[in-house]
Amino acid sequence: MKIPKKQIQKHSSVKSTLRMTPISHKKGKGLPETAICKECKAVYHSKKWFLDEKLYEQKKALKDVHVVICPACKKTQENVPNGIVTLKGDFLKQHKEEIMNLVHNEDTRSKQYNPLKRIMKINEKGGEVEIQTTSAKLAQRIGSILFKAYSGEVEYKKHENMEFMRVEWRR
Ligand SMILES: [Zn+2]
Repeated sequence: MKIPKKQIQKHSSVKSTLRMTPISHKKGKGLPETAICKECKAVYHSKKWFLDEKLYEQKKALKDVHVVICPACKKTQENVPNGIVTLKGDFLKQHKEEIMNLVHNEDTRSKQYNPLKRIMKINEKGGEVEIQTTSAKLAQRIGSILFKAYSGEVEYKKHENMEFMRVEWRR
């Protein structure tokens, strides 16, 4: 892709310069052939991320392996989730362990498909649980799994850009 440099310079202002600071990263761009994440041990190989302890040890032993922080760990560090699921209600309080097991199972399943789609953080306050995810779709799936398993009420609020989803499940 060619970007006409002269044109950008001509029209650039302070605002557009700010917007151009590299906050988000294009998928896989700039990544070497093989890399490992020092935080979660994910391995980047053949343009994909894997979570596999054996593969990690194998790649770690390579002389020229690139040690990086994967996009999911970066999101966690910078505290920028793509999904937030809030759980509330008396039923939740009574069955929290069981419900959270279901949530953790979905996290494990999701990471097997794509290590970058995972739960970042779980906060609990005043009997409510807030689950932050790196993926809007994972947030949506957690909501729909809880609804299927326990019914109750579920609400999805999708952002315009489709990259962020807020989910609330109550029972
Ligand atoms: Zn990582």
